[in-house]
Amino acid sequence: MLKIDNLHVRVAGKDILKGLTLDVQPGQVHAIMGPNGAGKSTLGNVIAGREGYEVTAGSISFDGRDLLALEPEERAAAGVFMAFQYPVEIPGVNNTYFLRAALNAQRKARGESELDSMQFLKRVREKLAVLHLKDDLLQRAVNEGFSGGEKKRNEIFQLALLEPRLAILDETDSGLDIDALRSVAEGVNALRSPDRAFVVVTHYQRLLDYIRPDVVHVLADGRIVETGGPELALELEAHGYAWVKDRIAPGA
Ligand code: ADP
Ligand code: MG
Ligand code: MG
Repeated sequence: MLKIDNLHVRVAGKDILKGLTLDVQPGQVHAIMGPNGAGKSTLGNVIAGREGYEVTAGSISFDGRDLLALEPEERAAAGVFMAFQYPVEIPGVNNTYFLRAALNAQRKARGESELDSMQFLKRVREKLAVLHLKDDLLQRAVNEGFSGGEKKRNEIFQLALLEPRLAILDETDSGLDIDALRSVAEGVNALRSPDRAFVVVTHYQRLLDYIRPDVVHVLADGRIVETGGPELALELEAHGYAWVKDRIAPGA
């Protein structure tokens, strides 16, 4: 589904990703762990098509298409969803209005009919039920004054509504207390399906107690330096990242 080959990315004149290779199949959950500054968020931003990231070598294909040739909106329409480490606040813009606009923009780009407000509300109710969520965040302004947990809960709801093929969650667990963490994880687990894949970026092992990944990667110094099963996350928790840093080629 997602195939990244020898990706090199430069940000603000600095090489950040230095030959990253990753292969994600439908139905899988991949966890990407790694020290601060390794390039984890850069990877997500490049996949989403954010400005300011210069691909100097390598390729990304998604369902066989050249993802890098697509505009960010086209990537979203193709089924790529990105939850950012720091979700933006949009004061004065009603969350329901925003979500409907996002969904309809995606549908339009796919050549599907837009949902009217009745159809949209029906969809909203279905998704709230799937995730066991209340509708308390929907009438507020987008992320304005949301707690960390509420922002993440809102993001998971957005994910449910947009039904992406590939969801990338960047440090969705940062700053969450244990209850919020669990509810985010339950949301992700409820949305797992054989034709949807998740790439979960996390600094800590804790989230992976609740979202059990199929594959765990360690990203360090712009490359995947280690890949394994869920046990790799436990090893990292026990030994820290110094243990992988030792494995990066001497002199690199
Ligand atoms: P991680 O998410 O693994 O902590 P990032 O991808 O955020 O790492 O950052 C990797 C490196 O790229 C860091 O050294 C960071 O300072 C740098 N970087 C990321 N984005 C920018 C930017 N917009 N301008 C300058 N440097 C950046
Ligand atoms: Mg970071
Ligand atoms: Mg980051």
